[in-house]
Amino acid sequence: MTNTVELLNPATEKAIGTVSFLDVEETDRCIARAATSLDKWRKVSPADRARLLRRFADLVDRDLEPLAQLEVINAGHTIGNARWEAGNVRDVLHYYCAGPERHSGRQIPVAGGVDVTFYEPIGVVGIIVPWNFPMPIAAWGFAPALAAGNTVLLKPAEHTPLTALRLGELALEAGIPEGVFQVLPGTGSEVGWRFVTHEKVRKVCFTGSSDVGRRVMAGCAEQVKRVTLELGGKSSNIIFADADLERAAASAPYAVFDNAGQDCCARSRLLVQASVYERFMGLFEPAVSAVKVMDPSNADSEMGPLISSQQRDRVANYVDASDIAFQGSAPAGAGYWYAPTVLRGDDHRAPSFTEEIFGPVVSVTTFVDEADALAIANSGRYGLSGSVWTRDIGRALRVARGLEAGALSINSNSSVRYHTPFGGFKQSGLGRELGPDALRSFSEEKNVFISTEES
Ligand code: NAD
Repeated sequence: MTNTVELLNPATEKAIGTVSFLDVEETDRCIARAATSLDKWRKVSPADRARLLRRFADLVDRDLEPLAQLEVINAGHTIGNARWEAGNVRDVLHYYCAGPERHSGRQIPVAGGVDVTFYEPIGVVGIIVPWNFPMPIAAWGFAPALAAGNTVLLKPAEHTPLTALRLGELALEAGIPEGVFQVLPGTGSEVGWRFVTHEKVRKVCFTGSSDVGRRVMAGCAEQVKRVTLELGGKSSNIIFADADLERAAASAPYAVFDNAGQDCCARSRLLVQASVYERFMGLFEPAVSAVKVMDPSNADSEMGPLISSQQRDRVANYVDASDIAFQGSAPAGAGYWYAPTVLRGDDHRAPSFTEEIFGPVVSVTTFVDEADALAIANSGRYGLSGSVWTRDIGRALRVARGLEAGALSINSNSSVRYHTPFGGFKQSGLGRELGPDALRSFSEEKNVFISTEES
């Protein structure tokens, strides 16, 4: 039975509308529709598939502003970030619409004939998205999956289904046939888990917490189902004494407080070389105080609220008042606000130093040399992202190569570009998304040998 759920604006706690969650029976009907739509979608010529995706991208561009406004009220994202996110969906679609016409196999030299490979679609792909970046994370899955000829089921997170539902409408308006791209709002335990257990779903792309990711992987193993996992992180921002300290300190707040710290790539550990610790902190404190935490619909806003009261409680539980070095400010009153918070991170076994907080909290600690920095940064089960700040190019590359993480930046805190591969080491994930090879992870490689022997 369909369940109607009320959605709240995280900045005001006011109701913004309702959404109907699908149950397992309705999910099964959508999966059946996706399976029967496969044949017609794979028969669309590569040029026409590209044209449809390009049209989809153009409609996202046309509706960029309303999509961004929807994310502001549904997820509490700042309007500046939300515009970037809608633009990212457009760009990811544009990038992968070049895929269908270039997704060619190989011709391999063999004795007695000709050997060719084909990239076949995997089939029905289920994409499960968390609430922190509802639009981009969805697009990183559906754009290459559709380009490779798969049909797609997209399950948005419970709190943030609105932009996903709108993207589903835009895909239909673009002319993508019914059943090829469906958006299924619902709970993880019903809709999401059905992607794992239903035999017609042949690949699951899961982005979310490590605990659920582990269960999804174990469930997929039952059917040897393809699975990609993008999970949590506890990434380090490493500042060497020879770095441009002014630049490093000015950008460090945004490396962890962007999206209120609800970012799997957040640099929530700040490692500063001991010899410049005092100087760096003297620059970092005013930079933290200057972060504009305010109504996310205000164009000046740099940080909005957390997604929910539960998330705010969870974040607060990690913060021991006696560890606070300093804090920025946040509005009082309605909304799930939490001020940017800097902790002294001397205890490397404290949960605030080892676990993903997923809120605007950073722990600062010192290191002595490269080996010490690497030992601290590589401690723990995660390995998603990180930054290295130094003017010594050799050191920058040595440290980057030594870090057990998948998405690194030198003298920058950027994390994800749609044209470069993205994913985690260790328990931060499995597989890679984005970049030039993404279509391959949505394809099965088939080898065909043709004999040229005379009969
Ligand atoms: P979550 O794991 O609770 O939920 C993520 C999604 O999985 C939601 O859509 C949810 O409904 C669904 N889900 C829940 N239980 C399920 C089940 N049993 N079977 C199938 N689906 C299920 O995570 P969250 O709290 O929404 O998101 C925060 C987490 O996401 C953080 O840990 C964060 O690091 C991670 N994340 C990772 C990346 C990355 O790319 N590595 C990006 C963003 C977020």
